[in-house]
Amino acid sequence: MSKMYTPWTEYMEPFKIKGNLYFVGCVAASSHLIATSEGLILLDTGYPQNLYMVIDGIYKLGFSPYDIKYIIHSHGHYDHLGGTKALVELTGAKTFIGAGDEDYANGKLDLTWAKELGYDAYHEAFEPDFILHDGDKITLGEVEMEFAAAPGHTPGTIAIFFNITDEGKEYKVAMHGGVGFNSMSLEFLDKYGLCHDCRQKFVDAIDRIIDRPVDIFIGNHVWNNDTKGKYQKILDGDKDAFVDPAEWKRFLQYQKEEMLKWIAEGK
Ligand SMILES: [Zn+2]
Repeated sequence: MSKMYTPWTEYMEPFKIKGNLYFVGCVAASSHLIATSEGLILLDTGYPQNLYMVIDGIYKLGFSPYDIKYIIHSHGHYDHLGGTKALVELTGAKTFIGAGDEDYANGKLDLTWAKELGYDAYHEAFEPDFILHDGDKITLGEVEMEFAAAPGHTPGTIAIFFNITDEGKEYKVAMHGGVGFNSMSLEFLDKYGLCHDCRQKFVDAIDRIIDRPVDIFIGNHVWNNDTKGKYQKILDGDKDAFVDPAEWKRFLQYQKEEMLKWIAEGK
């Protein structure tokens, strides 16, 4: 049993990353908001215990959670979809998840990591409205999102690609939806009778997306892309704190090399 989760200690100020892209998550799990002329897109809802912060953050930025049209999940773990059921009841937003994680979301498979965190995911289970496959695209207003299958961390982990606009300039934004090795350890996989090949799939998926041009790399956890450090830079006046065309490749290359080490060492 993990130590008691204290959601109030996970607070982060919501803020504009650039243009129509905003951070509305917390320390434990990131959520991102994309504003379009037709409504809002939310990437990940976070822990159910932190949902009040996401909702409050959306209001603080001058938006209404009732304008959320799409909720997209980076993958099917508790810390990314735990708030979804309540948010859907509040807003009527449509939900999306990568193919392979739908049974995590709807509670048929008890693999959301809730158990590891000391919770019962059944309370937060929901049936996703749309299942995303490699190469799928969705559009809301002027924002088009493209998805790439990026399995490994979970079978349905996705990478997300879209453009934002800031002062007339377009920026390519991307997220890799799950790089934690915790759910790819042999110990975890064997405990649940899962296939070991997710590790090689993780590496292969990185190879398929690593060469894409990306100006702004966002993470589904703040430690992926130093969200806190960059936010401090924004506060200090650097409007381009999140713009780094080399970061996507650097991050994925590191993840790939570390996983290849794990495979070689049989961890
Ligand atoms: Zn996860």
